[in-house]
Amino acid sequence: MNNKINRSLIIVGSGPAGYTAAIYAARANLKPLVLAGPQPGGQLTTTTEVENFPGFVEGIKGPELMARMQKQSERFGAEVKFEVATKADLTGDVKKIWVGETKYQAKAIIITTGAGSRTLELPREKDLWSRGVHTCATCDGFFYKDKIVAVIGGGDSAMEESTFLSGLAKKVYIIYRKDKFPASEIMKKRTLENDKIEVLWNSEVIEYLGEEKLTGVRIKNNQTNAEKNLEINALFFAIGHIPNTEIFRGQITLDDKAGYIKTHENVFTDIAGVFAAGDCVDFTYRQAITSAGFGCMAAMAAERWLQTQST
Ligand code: NDP
Repeated sequence: MNNKINRSLIIVGSGPAGYTAAIYAARANLKPLVLAGPQPGGQLTTTTEVENFPGFVEGIKGPELMARMQKQSERFGAEVKFEVATKADLTGDVKKIWVGETKYQAKAIIITTGAGSRTLELPREKDLWSRGVHTCATCDGFFYKDKIVAVIGGGDSAMEESTFLSGLAKKVYIIYRKDKFPASEIMKKRTLENDKIEVLWNSEVIEYLGEEKLTGVRIKNNQTNAEKNLEINALFFAIGHIPNTEIFRGQITLDDKAGYIKTHENVFTDIAGVFAAGDCVDFTYRQAITSAGFGCMAAMAAERWLQTQST
């Protein structure tokens, strides 16, 4: 077994929260180790244009933004390893993270492992990704100004995304598999009163249509079994997210619903020296800029906590 010890800080995950934490921690001379995870750069590396990250007037490609964050963190001394954390032991004064057989140890850990959007995983989903198939209306809705779009889901996210899209698109369908939304009353009311939004109840998407980009979906009414094609320019998933927190289960408190890490005072977990930031904590905002902000807070909190340990 290869033991690598005596680091001050390990950051697990490399999305905007992870790299922002790395930039701050590196500039505080903590020489953080970043374990980049299975998708280095996080969810933004699967998107095309990012137009809402401040400072990039003309927009920037998601992968480029993340590559820049990585370089910026390395410039100040962060060590980025393209490795996937497979096991964690957060008990005791020295926290341990394994990558296969290799054990990394540090006094403090920042967890920024992110979350993945739940999708339907129908055939050709990957080919149409960002070509009409999307997970974030706030991020990609703008590309469908005056077009016809659809949102799948019946929770608060579906209400919020469809309402947001109604400010841009010509028409918004909500495709929902039951006949009554489980969303909160106020968001449901706002959605149902919106003239631009039409709900297709008891409906399920069974096929994506279009070759180079999405041109529609085939939907099935699960009460009548009737099928029809629906012409749309974009489909947005709002069917939940899955936080990447499995390796920490049983050690830090996760919410019982979906497994998000519970924090207090923004970034503190219930274990001293273990901090968490970004989409593995936040199921409400889920934006690159909010994750980056929380990454900054986590690094500052970790730095202050480490100072109390050395005195
Ligand atoms: P939810 O888990 O609340 O809702 C997911 C929706 O997707 C459900 O309606 C579910 O259907 C549907 N769904 C799940 N899997 C599938 C599938 N395979 N095919 C079709 N439909 C599917 O997730 P949300 O993201 O909406 O919300 C997560 C949390 O975030 C909630 O606590 C919510 O309140 C909160 N939130 C708050 C906001 C705010 O306050 N501004 C905004 C957005 C979210 P079914 O109903 O049949 O299970």
